Amino acid sequence: MNHAQLDTSFLKLLDPSFYSFQEGKPLLNPYIISVNHSLAHNLQIDQSTLLSEDFLQLINSEIKSHNFQPYASSYSGHQFGYFVPNLGDGRALNLGKLKNYHLQLKGSGTTPYSRDGDGRAVLRSSIREYLMSEAMYGLGIPTTRALALVGSHTKVLRSYTQETAAIVLRASSSWIRFGSFEFAYIQKNKKEYYLKQLADFVIMQSYPELQNKPNRYEELYFAIVDKTLEMIALWQSVGFCHGVMNTDNMSIEGLTIDYGPYAMMEEFNTGFVCNLSDHEGRYSFENQPYIAQWNLSILAKILSPIADHGLMESYNDNFIGKFKKQYFSLMAEKLGLKNYSFDKDKNLIAKLLKTLQQQSVDYTSFFYHLSADTLDLKDQKITSWLKEYSRRLKEETVSKEDRLTQMRKINPKYILRNSMLQEAIDAAQNGDFTLVNDFLKIAHNPYDEWKEYEHYTQPKSGLEAMRCSCSS
Ligand code: AMP
Ligand code: MG
Repeated sequence: MNHAQLDTSFLKLLDPSFYSFQEGKPLLNPYIISVNHSLAHNLQIDQSTLLSEDFLQLINSEIKSHNFQPYASSYSGHQFGYFVPNLGDGRALNLGKLKNYHLQLKGSGTTPYSRDGDGRAVLRSSIREYLMSEAMYGLGIPTTRALALVGSHTKVLRSYTQETAAIVLRASSSWIRFGSFEFAYIQKNKKEYYLKQLADFVIMQSYPELQNKPNRYEELYFAIVDKTLEMIALWQSVGFCHGVMNTDNMSIEGLTIDYGPYAMMEEFNTGFVCNLSDHEGRYSFENQPYIAQWNLSILAKILSPIADHGLMESYNDNFIGKFKKQYFSLMAEKLGLKNYSFDKDKNLIAKLLKTLQQQSVDYTSFFYHLSADTLDLKDQKITSWLKEYSRRLKEETVSKEDRLTQMRKINPKYILRNSMLQEAIDAAQNGDFTLVNDFLKIAHNPYDEWKEYEHYTQPKSGLEAMRCSCSS
């Protein structure tokens, strides 16, 4: 792979107000911290390229060439419920498309959308994004990916503290957000033109099966609702809390995007808020489906100049009902219930969630031990629920062995706990990147035993409730 292979010719299909060409600003003394060999393999990027000076120079914006034009995208968004017109890639640069992925640098310097920001990303948050996006991929959850992580000696200031800047080379089949449509909507007098252009672009790139449909814009909306619902149900089933579900952080492909103050839930608590800046708990774990629906209602309003608002709203009205069905069916899979039905099993599942919460049980460990048949049965906390579960299992036709084998494939042993990420960050800030690379392996294979990392399967006392703020 070299920069000349990165395609940006699709920009011809979009009005220039949707993007700005921009050169990145190199970091001082850049060095590779980690490379994602598995994604590189999918992109057919060979080992020698990954190790080459050219690859590092590409990430550090040191390559200037007339046939290579990185760009930043414009978008708007509702942040914590309030509309902000002028967001955009304030610290990201799109390098172009390689195979099915748009490569993007995060932390590459200021752009016309930086507002008061410095265009940088600190090492701490870059490690968090790099690892968690790959962990979500490892869990089979739709997400943007990360191809490489680069550190540097460039100093940046965050909350009166000096930190070092880093860059994540991200990769995604689309970087278009709900907020990209909000940006089209606020174009004076030309709303429809911009909305149609963007919608046609999104259909071509992400939903080609809709291209010849008579009501393609309504269909596009329905498809975005469905994809968002699938993603949120998966988040809830693994205990992922995003933390900043602003409309500019919602992908039109239903991908998990923009990893900031996220956290994997440890002790089960539906009221869990992972973002320290979220004082009202707007983006708490239990609110995620409702916020997704709220964000989708904004999208319906935004698309209303080109699609039937009533049809879109009534489709979105069914979001929570459909979400519950999808979420419970994922929970039933985690419990190994093959002949599951919502009506028959909903109480068993609801009771389990209530018990896990009341007893502050570590969510991931519980399902892991249930699947490994290593649950400590002396533990009085959940015996009453377990009795009900055993009775229910008698209705199953598959053998216990087959059920447990199946359950072990979907209930991870390892998740990236905040305490683990902090340990990797602390070591990296002292120049040791071993844990970043170890955790990348675990992230890709969370169901494996990894005996040497056994101590990471339990929450570390005192750190489990550690939360992050937006400052990154
Ligand atoms: P986020 O909360 O990371 O999704 O970012 C929200 C908006 O702020 C986006 O438009 C970002 O590009 C922008 N932003 C965040 N951090 C910075 C920064 N350090 N410099 C410039 N823009 C930033
Ligand atoms: Mg964002």
